[in-house]
Amino acid sequence: MKLDAVPVTLSRCAKTFRGRRVLDPVDLSIEAGETLVLLGPSGCGKTTTLRMIAGLEKPDAGGRVSFGADDVTALPIERRQVGMVFQNYALFPNLSVRGNVGYGLRIQKVEAQALRRRVDELLDMTELTAHADKPIGELSGGQRQRVALARALAPRPRVLLLDEPLTALDARLRETLRAEMNALLRELRVTSIYVTHDQSEAMALADRIVVMSAGRIEQCGTPREIYYRPANRAVAQFVGTLNRVSGERRDNALVTQGGTIVVPGLLANVKVQDGGRTEAFFRPEDAQLVDPQRAQLRGTVESALFLGERTRLRIEGAAPDALIVDVPGRIELAAGTLVGISVRDEGWVALH
Ligand code: ATP
Repeated sequence: MKLDAVPVTLSRCAKTFRGRRVLDPVDLSIEAGETLVLLGPSGCGKTTTLRMIAGLEKPDAGGRVSFGADDVTALPIERRQVGMVFQNYALFPNLSVRGNVGYGLRIQKVEAQALRRRVDELLDMTELTAHADKPIGELSGGQRQRVALARALAPRPRVLLLDEPLTALDARLRETLRAEMNALLRELRVTSIYVTHDQSEAMALADRIVVMSAGRIEQCGTPREIYYRPANRAVAQFVGTLNRVSGERRDNALVTQGGTIVVPGLLANVKVQDGGRTEAFFRPEDAQLVDPQRAQLRGTVESALFLGERTRLRIEGAAPDALIVDVPGRIELAAGTLVGISVRDEGWVALH
């Protein structure tokens, strides 16, 4: 199926509800065919941003939404050619799968044969052919979500908008559908804006992620940029787990209670805080346990949480805060065991 992907641009799009500004002015460019994920905690303004792109909310005066060269700011949703997929599916319960998928095409008065062809193509693409004539009530959650996706894509939208589409599903199904959704978005290359508060979903699906908090964009970048080079603490803390090691700076070394960290270049641009303290950060998976004599940091195991493929250790005494270190699941350590921690050089992060 061929879709005409268009770029989407938001310029100075702010939103105020009843005198309360919930979104600061947003500037954002989404490339044609790109999947952009809006990620952030509840209430940060993701859905409001999506709804402004959809035409369900108007930005405050001065804001503009464009699809390619078209300024769509004043257009209502039905004239924007957008496809939408919601968490609660919003399917028509009295129509069959086929009826749901073809709904938008009937509204457009597409001729019967062309309509049937398009619906068949979408049913095939979303692996729903065998269920085509079933009523919606007989489908599983995952199948319903695939119907919602097929229905949104049928009228060849210029832009596809997805609001937490997988949140209502159980974890295993969510993972399967995430992979299917990823394959489909990549194959179709439709410009997509996807809202989620689930960081693994964001990482897996996005070409770029926009991390939002409290009505602001904190960072926009590829999943790897966001994960490995978080712009600030809000991003670092929201995306994955980050350990903080604070200590005293001596030349190029960070001296903390459990050891001394010397990593070339790490502290070059780090500002010293009040009281002369400096901080560096690392992620649980970038550390490994080593002989305490040769370790960067030494501490004792406070707790060990077996999670199957890994064991998550909480280690105290190595830095002012307890540290989280992930080790292979087979490693068993009792509380109170003395351990050495080494973090690979590129695993250290300095935040500004
Ligand atoms: P969630 O993941 O919980 O949906 P979100 O990041 O999508 O969160 P929004 O739904 O965009 O957040 O809401 C942002 C803020 O705007 C919230 O404080 C919310 O209460 C407020 N808000 C959203 N819609 C309206 C409305 N129609 N009237 C008043 N306030 C609103």
